[in-house]
Amino acid sequence: MGKYTLKCLQCGSEYQGEYRLKCDHDNSLLRANYHAKQLALKNTKGMGKFYDWLPIHKQLDTNAAPITYKSEELARELGLTNLYIGFSGYWPERSALIRTCSFKELEAHPTMQRLTEAGGSAVVVASVGNTARAFAHVSAMTGIDAYIVVPQRGLPRMWLTEEPTDSIHLISMAKGNDYTDAIHLADRIAQLPGIMPEGGAKNVARRDGMGTVMLDATMTIKRLPDHYFQAVGSGTGAISAWEAAIRLHGDGRFGKHIPKLQIAQNLPFVPMLNAWNAGRREIIPQIDMPEPKKHIDEMYADVLSNRAPPYSVTGGLFDALTATNGLMYGITNDQGKEAKSLFESLEGIDILPPSAVAVSSLLKAVEAGNVAKDDVILLNIAGGGTERLKDDYSLTMIRPTTIAKNPDVPLEDLIQPE
Ligand SMILES: *Cc1c(COP(=O)(O)O)cnc(C)c1O
Ligand SMILES: [Zn+2]
Repeated sequence: MGKYTLKCLQCGSEYQGEYRLKCDHDNSLLRANYHAKQLALKNTKGMGKFYDWLPIHKQLDTNAAPITYKSEELARELGLTNLYIGFSGYWPERSALIRTCSFKELEAHPTMQRLTEAGGSAVVVASVGNTARAFAHVSAMTGIDAYIVVPQRGLPRMWLTEEPTDSIHLISMAKGNDYTDAIHLADRIAQLPGIMPEGGAKNVARRDGMGTVMLDATMTIKRLPDHYFQAVGSGTGAISAWEAAIRLHGDGRFGKHIPKLQIAQNLPFVPMLNAWNAGRREIIPQIDMPEPKKHIDEMYADVLSNRAPPYSVTGGLFDALTATNGLMYGITNDQGKEAKSLFESLEGIDILPPSAVAVSSLLKAVEAGNVAKDDVILLNIAGGGTERLKDDYSLTMIRPTTIAKNPDVPLEDLIQPE
């Protein structure tokens, strides 16, 4: 029966085929155990080829997928012989066709599909940018209603290559509200009948969707990489890469090595870096993220700001780093910007600020001897091609349907019955 079971990583409880985001007994992450132990790619365009290891029962209809290629120019510059780039974005010359230009779309497709299969009719999501755009796009493609709550500074990122549809309900928060306020309002909207929370890192559809970056890389390289580089805000992408690697290890055809996570945050807002360097599973706000609003305002890659990342939770980033003997880096704004121009001039595609932070951490790792010349390295460029996209598409801004003064406004004022 079913395609997978959900297993609690703390108490071992198992759950069958449900839209479930947490265990009944604790707060641990649940993990999907797929009955198919070997990955057989489906003959289809897009990320649906990884169907065996996605928690959905109907095939996905999208040509969005991660791509992997072997770097020549950046690799030569760094003296590396096996540098592979995982790219999630728009770069048609390399068959990368994610028109919202980040790996958030790899989460959005299976998440929306899983939700409708469970009988939900609408999703609610809070985001400052890339996630909101990804869910808006999937809503436009599928007609599934999406309530998207963004703080005001997220609005410039709310563009699409297609005409926005009535299924997209963009709720902008008035000036003075931040991402945390948006999350609070989204939590309240999730209580309404028929509307389901997407669940963030707790949703296996989001994690296994992002995990396709590791699946694609390993299938392309034909072995598991030795190292995995990514910039993190929540760390969900890195957790996902680790879990995908565990599955690939179990597959048996790709070697016995689980990649070492080498991940980066953007200074000065680096709560996970601080906790990790102190050897702590707990993030202590006063120590690890003093003056959060000020520091978040100063960030170059502000989509990497998350004040409540799945770091401490069982199965979360602390466990992933511990299990892979991982490393964390802090990258300054200047280092990020420098890495962006270096990457773009060598590889020939524009990248988003968080990906520039990832590139910078690879430069640091090479310098520090944290990778060897011939190691197999996967650099996750999780977002890029927004400039390239403009050559092929004209973009349309999504207009807010309502503006919420604060996170506690009456919901009737925001959401009109259909
Ligand atoms: C969201 C995002 C990240 C950070 O992802 P995590 O959820 O922290 O793993 C990195 N790069 C881009 C382009 C993103 O959109
Ligand atoms: Zn449990």
